[in-house]
Amino acid sequence: MIKISNLEFGYTRHAVLEGIDMQLDEGCIYGLLGENGVGKTTLLKLISGLLKADRGEIEIGGLSPFSHSPLFLRNIYYVPEDFAAPEIPVEVFAKDYGVFYPHFDLAYFYELMRLFGVSPSSKFNRLSYGQQKKSVIAFALSLRTGVLLLDEPSNGLDIPSKSQLRRAISESSGPDRTIVVSTHQVRDLENLFDPVIILDNKGVLLNASVGEISEKLYFSVEKAMRPDALYCEPAVGGYSQVSVNTDNSESAVDIEMLFNAVLANRDRIKSIFNR
Ligand code: ADP
Repeated sequence: MIKISNLEFGYTRHAVLEGIDMQLDEGCIYGLLGENGVGKTTLLKLISGLLKADRGEIEIGGLSPFSHSPLFLRNIYYVPEDFAAPEIPVEVFAKDYGVFYPHFDLAYFYELMRLFGVSPSSKFNRLSYGQQKKSVIAFALSLRTGVLLLDEPSNGLDIPSKSQLRRAISESSGPDRTIVVSTHQVRDLENLFDPVIILDNKGVLLNASVGEISEKLYFSVEKAMRPDALYCEPAVGGYSQVSVNTDNSESAVDIEMLFNAVLANRDRIKSIFNR
C-alpha cells in the first residue's frame, strides 16, 4: 500500500503539488490522469524516491521512498516517459538489472518480448522508439515488484501495440501489486484503470473506483441533449453525455467523457464525490 499524507512539492520557482492525501491499494491498476504539466510525472518521481517531498510523507510498506533503502528499491520500479537506451542487447540489460529484484521472472520477460514482437537479442539503441518503449515495459512488468509506476507508457506506440500493452499490464496485475499508470491520452488505456485519479491545480480532483463513478454518474448517448448534463459532446446517433446518476441507472464509464466532465465541473464533482 502507498500512503501519501499532506504531500507538498515544488520546483525552485513554483509549487506543483499541495495537500495531497491518498492511499493506493494493492491489487489495483490506478489511472493517473491530468492535463499536461499538472504534476503526474512529479508525483511518480516522489513515490519512487527520485524527488524529495518538501512537506508531508509518502510511505510504502512502512518505508519512505527517499530513504532509498535496498528493501524499498527492490520492490518498486518506475518507467519514465523517455528512456536513454544503452548500447547492449535488451536481454543482457534485463539479466544484468533483473538480479536486483527478487521476483524477476526471466521467462515472463521473454514471453512479453514475444507478445510485443521485439527480438530480445537486439541492441537497445538500435531499436525504434516504440520498440525501446515496449522492451522497457516488458522488463518492468517481469520484475514483479510490489509497486510499478508507468509514466505515459502508450506514448509513441502504434494501435496494435497499444492493445498488446493493455493486455500485458492487465495480465501482470495481481493481489500483491499496485500499478500506477499516468497518461494524458485517456482513450489508449481506458479499460484498464480502476480506480481513476485526476490531478488538477496542485491537488487531487477525483480519486474514485470505477464502481463508485458509475454509481454517481450516468454515461449515455442520446438523441437529445439532456438539460442537466454535466458534459456533452456530439457523437454518432446524437450526443454523448455525462449526468448525475439520480436514479441508480447502470452505465459503462467512459473515461475520456469522465475526464472532460470533471474538468468542466470541478466544484460540482468534488461535492458529488465527497458527499
Ligand atoms: P505532467 O507529468 O502532469 O505533465 P510534470 O510533473 O512533468 O507534469 O510537471 C509539473 C510542472 O512542473 C510543470 O509546470 C513543469 O513545467 C514543471 N517541472 C517539471 N520538471 C521540472 C524541473 N525539473 N524543474 C522545474 N520545473 C519543472
